[in-house]
Amino acid sequence: MKTTSTNTIGTLYVVATPIGNLGDITYRAIEILRMVDIILCEDTRTTKKLLDAYTITTKTTSYHAHSSSAKHDAIIEMLSLGKNIALVSDAGTPAISDPGAMIVRDVYDAFGNDAQVVSIPGPSAVTAALSISGLFGNEYTFVGFVPHKKGRETLFKEIAERDGISVAYESTHRMEKLLESLERFCGEKRTIVVAKELTKMYEQVVRGTAMEVRDYFAKNKDRIRGEFVVVIGPK
Ligand code: SAM
Repeated sequence: MKTTSTNTIGTLYVVATPIGNLGDITYRAIEILRMVDIILCEDTRTTKKLLDAYTITTKTTSYHAHSSSAKHDAIIEMLSLGKNIALVSDAGTPAISDPGAMIVRDVYDAFGNDAQVVSIPGPSAVTAALSISGLFGNEYTFVGFVPHKKGRETLFKEIAERDGISVAYESTHRMEKLLESLERFCGEKRTIVVAKELTKMYEQVVRGTAMEVRDYFAKNKDRIRGEFVVVIGPK
């Protein structure tokens, strides 16, 4: 849908929010969340906790991966009427393994080079984990969530051959399987860094070869709980 309007087109602000610690939000993010006409939330109940913490009373509505095309059209309509909109996900930066990319694309499709899409940068688990990994190199590849079945083996083979750093997101219940695959494909050749529960009470970094890291979690099963970023060092 291409929209032409005589109004000033509103701005879509893509706002990063904390990945655990509520203190990790920028002044600008708070300002924008207060100023916009509406906040699109992956889950309005989750975002409410953040908004309440900063006494932000802006109206919210849900926007997620399965939002209808009617919802997309309504968002474009609001922008064409000059309304300003913020987009947030449950945690971290929208569109990074989270909803957001589709609505951003639709805004460009609707308004072309008149589109006003502004990033309000802040936390993202991928950059937080990389920054404390102690691994260096100019290049890193973010693979998002590792596929469960199709393409899984190919991806691990690629990771094992890659000269640069690889970074993956993983959920609690799949961590053991991920460590098993890393041991199988990366063996002793790589440094693996598991960054767990970043910015939260049980934040922890476990570092070693795939075998060492797997062994650590096998002996400390209670620690395989929470959110994880896995960073795989270069060859
Ligand atoms: N958009 C988010 C970002 O910018 O980081 C990522 C959302 S993705 C749905 C959620 C995944 O990110 C989790 O399964 C975990 O792999 C990673 N993650 C998010 N918060 C984290 C944290 N505090 N510590 C470690 N990993 C985290």
